Amino acid sequence: MMRICISIILILISGYTATAQSNSRDMLLVPDAIFDGVSKKLIRNSAVLVSDGKIAAVGAPESLLTDGVIRIDLSGKTLMPGLIDLHSHVLLHPYDETSWNDQVLKESWAERALRAGKHLKRTLEAGYTTLRDLGSEGAGYVDVGVRQALEKGVIPGPRLIVAGKAIVATGSYGPKGFAENVSVPLGAEPADGVDLIRVTRDQIGHGADFIKVYADYRWGPNGEAMPTFSIEEIRSIVETARSSGRYTVAHATTPESMRRAILGGVETIEHGSTGTREIFALMKEKGVAWCPTLAAGEAISQYQGWQKDVGPDPQRVRDQKQAFAAALDAGVIMCAGSDVGVFDHGDNAWELELMVEYGMSNHAVLKSATSINAELLHMQDRIGQIKAGYLAELIAVDGDPLEDISALRHVSFVLQGSNVVVGDAPE
Ligand SMILES: [Zn+2]
Repeated sequence: MMRICISIILILISGYTATAQSNSRDMLLVPDAIFDGVSKKLIRNSAVLVSDGKIAAVGAPESLLTDGVIRIDLSGKTLMPGLIDLHSHVLLHPYDETSWNDQVLKESWAERALRAGKHLKRTLEAGYTTLRDLGSEGAGYVDVGVRQALEKGVIPGPRLIVAGKAIVATGSYGPKGFAENVSVPLGAEPADGVDLIRVTRDQIGHGADFIKVYADYRWGPNGEAMPTFSIEEIRSIVETARSSGRYTVAHATTPESMRRAILGGVETIEHGSTGTREIFALMKEKGVAWCPTLAAGEAISQYQGWQKDVGPDPQRVRDQKQAFAAALDAGVIMCAGSDVGVFDHGDNAWELELMVEYGMSNHAVLKSATSINAELLHMQDRIGQIKAGYLAELIAVDGDPLEDISALRHVSFVLQGSNVVVGDAPE
């Protein structure tokens, strides 16, 4: 009995020591080059010292390699801040596998949460260390629960910042098309007028990190997208959220709904695929950022039969190309948000490739996916840059992403705080 007790104690002690060692020893990451999240040029002959889950210093490798520091060789690779996607849906999976309606109406919340766990692991391994998740799409506050599981270390995944249920106008949003006497759950929470204040507060109370509002829906007389809320209604949501320290973002595709959302005070516009020069000029003036979700537009077009580079661009793709050029011309703050979930989780970098294809420089796109996205999350003092004092959420990619954006498809090292989640862990 005594012997068993002693060996259990020994196991506990050695187990504890091993964990403490791998978590507490400083690491020196020595790559070929560093993209720091901001600079136009890669930084050469530099290494990053990580201590206690944070970046302790950036400098010459020889000066930082002191006794007890573990050297991690990243030769041939570019070290950069972990990628950030500002528009994800971890509770959805590609619509060509299961339609959105069937996911909302037929999949249990348990199934959706378990799928989210798989999606999150894949996303982290693809180099994404933060996601802003834009609505649970009919799964209540399951996104809040998933975020809590991540925070407790129950499952691996990126940091998750969640919207909760999201707000839609009564009569808009789906699933739609059922007989009057059949009640189906909606993909978001309806509210109007003064009730928007109560619903905003209720969503905050249930754990929403920010508020998402749908400023339009395909409910025009011919099924076209038309605005939902008035400017005043949007403003009441924004002000209610703001007084609790939270911001609001808007799904908006038409110029008029974008205009109302901008004047109502939202911080980012999602989709905006038919935005005009005037609207983008207004966004520039008000400092409102745009998440174009190009990958989702191309994915949906492909599900509808479009073969890229074979058939002519469908209307949706022509629209988003035109809007993208207009937004670049106007100098709008571009965020990187893909609407992943419409397409495969882990394929988030597709958005960044398309941003380059549609006319942005590699440098501008990399900045969007790191330091600019961090700023839009109000976390610019902690993530999105390689800088002393910042959190050690770092990735290394094979090659030089400033030359070739598809280098982001070759993530061979991911560090999350003190844990190496992809690549060789320190001894
Ligand atoms: Zn979305």
